[in-house]
Amino acid sequence: MLYEKERNALIKTARAMESYGLVRMSGGNVSLRIDDLVLVTPTAMSYDTMTAEDIVITDLKGERVEGKRRPTSDLKAILYIFNHMPDVKAIIHTHQPKAVALSLVADKLPLISTTLIDEVKDEVMVAPFTISSDEGMGIETVKYAGKALCVILKNHGIMAYGKSLDQALCAAVYLEESCDVYLHALSTGRQIAVLTREQADAEDAPRGYYGQPE
Ligand SMILES: [Zn+2]
Repeated sequence: MLYEKERNALIKTARAMESYGLVRMSGGNVSLRIDDLVLVTPTAMSYDTMTAEDIVITDLKGERVEGKRRPTSDLKAILYIFNHMPDVKAIIHTHQPKAVALSLVADKLPLISTTLIDEVKDEVMVAPFTISSDEGMGIETVKYAGKALCVILKNHGIMAYGKSLDQALCAAVYLEESCDVYLHALSTGRQIAVLTREQADAEDAPRGYYGQPE
């Protein structure tokens, strides 16, 4: 079996996605690019009982390389992102409720907190609605990504991506927390204190303290 360790990492990430409340049941998907191959979670299967054999491996055109299951129905969108954002190695798609709620009332999540800047890297745009399981989700993600590690898909969910599964998961989790904060602030009807670009750049500058030494 190709990439057994990575297959298990995909499942672990999918279960974490569910435990953080970013998806319910078999919603969303996780994918990982390794050179010219893509590992993806199968469609409509519970993450609880998923095993390494259930992960599907395709090439960058979507041709099956290994695995018997049907891949996620969002495969075309995922491949579009991998093919157009070469630095992206991992993608997580979720239906996280706070981000979807925000997409109903705003065009973006502005620079509202240090957490957002540290973990998601920039304000997050709300991309226009496209139907699910369609390449359009990927096209709009690439168009609206900017410097951020997430794009919110209007009336649908989010795409989070990064150089690793951990980075994509982290971005999705902290995007949800940031959307929660922003929605609470919006609900007061009072003016929102958004960070300036200068403040955001200062927060984003490398300072070499956070994190444990290797
Ligand atoms: Zn979806």
